[in-house]
Amino acid sequence: MTQVERQQWDVVVVGAGGAGLRAAIEARERGARTAVICKSLFGKAHTVMAEGGIAASMGNVNEGDNWQVHFRDTMRGGKFLNQWRMAELHAKEAPDRVWELETWGALFDRTPDGKISQRNFGGHEYPRLAHVGDRTGLELIRTLQQKIVQLQQEDFKEHGDYEARLKVFQECTVTRVLKDGERVSGTFCYERETGRFFVLEAPAVVLATGGIGKSFKTTSNSWEYTGDGHALALLAGAPLLNMEFVQFHPTGMVWPPSVKGILVTESVRGDGGVLRNSEGKRFMFDYIPDVFKEKYAQSEEEGDRWYEDPDHNRRPPELLPRDEVARAINSEVKAGRGSPHGGVFLDVSTRMPAEKIKRRLPSMYHQFKELADVDITAEAMEVGPTCHYVMGGIAVESDTAATLGVPGLFAAGEVAGGMHGSNRLGGNSLSDLLVFGRRAGLHAAEYAARDAPAVGGRPEVSQAQIDAAAAEALAPFHAAEGAENPYTLHQELQTAMNDLVGIIRREGEMAQALEKLAGLRVRAARAGVEGHRQFNPGWHLALDLRNMLLVSECVARAALERTESRGGHTREDCPAMERSWRPVNLLCRPVDPAPSDPAADRIELTRVRTDPIRSDLLALFEKEELVKYLAEEELYD
Ligand code: FAD
Repeated sequence: MTQVERQQWDVVVVGAGGAGLRAAIEARERGARTAVICKSLFGKAHTVMAEGGIAASMGNVNEGDNWQVHFRDTMRGGKFLNQWRMAELHAKEAPDRVWELETWGALFDRTPDGKISQRNFGGHEYPRLAHVGDRTGLELIRTLQQKIVQLQQEDFKEHGDYEARLKVFQECTVTRVLKDGERVSGTFCYERETGRFFVLEAPAVVLATGGIGKSFKTTSNSWEYTGDGHALALLAGAPLLNMEFVQFHPTGMVWPPSVKGILVTESVRGDGGVLRNSEGKRFMFDYIPDVFKEKYAQSEEEGDRWYEDPDHNRRPPELLPRDEVARAINSEVKAGRGSPHGGVFLDVSTRMPAEKIKRRLPSMYHQFKELADVDITAEAMEVGPTCHYVMGGIAVESDTAATLGVPGLFAAGEVAGGMHGSNRLGGNSLSDLLVFGRRAGLHAAEYAARDAPAVGGRPEVSQAQIDAAAAEALAPFHAAEGAENPYTLHQELQTAMNDLVGIIRREGEMAQALEKLAGLRVRAARAGVEGHRQFNPGWHLALDLRNMLLVSECVARAALERTESRGGHTREDCPAMERSWRPVNLLCRPVDPAPSDPAADRIELTRVRTDPIRSDLLALFEKEELVKYLAEEELYD
């Protein structure tokens, strides 16, 4: 029997990025005793890396902006596969969430008349991203942390204990969501520094663990992005939605190799940066797809005029949604017109004075100077696609962020699916975190106070579950002879996903990826580590491998199933976006939560029809545009 410390909370939030912190603040303000747990240091979530800004239709720079335009842009960006109710709530509530941040102390860049400044980004019709230079995520996290400290100070005054109603467990990892029957009952966790196990008991758990990028070799994501929340949900019985949609950001660094994949923010293009191939051609004009033809400039002159006079010109194609730009770069490189290190050129030096570049893009200036010895005020950057974001995620109810079929389990932020459809617009993640983080916290607190007691009181955590979770976590220490090295397995997984389920996909290669994943699962069951439980990164990686393998199988299986190209899913063998696929969601569920044969498939797919889009929202689009996206039967409806 494993002896572990148990603590009782009302709501446990897993993840301390923008979504987790916003959820925790809301839950605590609604009266729930709330614990936040994160595997990195408090303040070092992925959100802190966000550069460009938060999309919200405040209309500060162009009064033409409003929630309807933002909704339309988001649906177009996601190629109409977005969970439309989420896109609607997001567009309506994002401005309030930004203003609220300001009342909590965030200092955004200003317009000349003192309003919050907003910048252009791909796929957004108007300048819409509230920003702080190119360090917006840092300000967002700093503000939310400050709010948490303020709430803790209030608690100290009232209870004499800063952590009476809101406590952060940093550098602690959750390996299992625990259940009492069908209901959530808490989380099983370990402290990374000591290896000590503990249990947070709670009737409501919010998953806010971010993305999956560490399953791919070239990625802008940091070490935390191992798909933990996705896997925790699956293992608890909650399905994942449309996992085939993975965003490859068009502009990551390509050189030197040690920094390959690090993000080059879209703000560079939003502020006038242009893409050229090795022949010096601004090639994006050759890649404007039919669905966007009317909205984008057809000549360099018009594109350039747009920066000064957006009301009478169309935007340059460098600002197409990310999936389009990433595919175009990929094609140029493949056609032999790439840069020396396998990317293309992104030039801002000929477009803005050096001082302005340093002021508008300070992090980019330092990033290139320090990591690549390139002065972006004087020369072009070399850039290429990098795995950046996952649109697929835990299936949730739009209004409440509740997962499907697991009472008490909620999800928000990048780990949740639906909001962005097949492709996310830049800036729409930070707003998503705030809008749905708040909603998840609110509904988790309500559930803990009202629903959980009404259906059988506080759920219990059984000793058997704790024993099983502890045995699973300790397995890498007991690997038999010939144990596999978790680092080798991780590298092989990343290579397989990058090469076989990457930016351009083919049926044969995805089938090969599934075979490779089955082989890796068998070997991962024998993953072994040396040493002890005190800060042991090899052990941590061995545990993360379970999650990455599960999530990668979801991506590969769903990508093989969807025989079309849409947003972040491009198939060379099925290049067209098929209207018949528009109303189809793919749900991933585990075949068997505790399989005896590691080679067996872990995931099964079901096709589910999307909810019909509400008619007043459809009425926001021209009929000619809808005809390009909606399936035949939907048009009749
Ligand atoms: P995160 O901020 O990643 O937080 C996840 C949290 O979960 C972390 O605290 C982590 O430690 C914790 N965690 C994970 N697994 C576990 C576990 N098993 N147990 C305990 N804790 C766990 N989006 C925009 O809208 N605008 C931008 O300008 C922008 N720029 C970006 C720049 C970069 C370089 C990158 C990589 C992304 C950018 N994005 C941007 C995307 C955006 O930053 C992310 O999608 C978003 O921050 C995700 O927030 P989150 O709260 O869902 O997750």
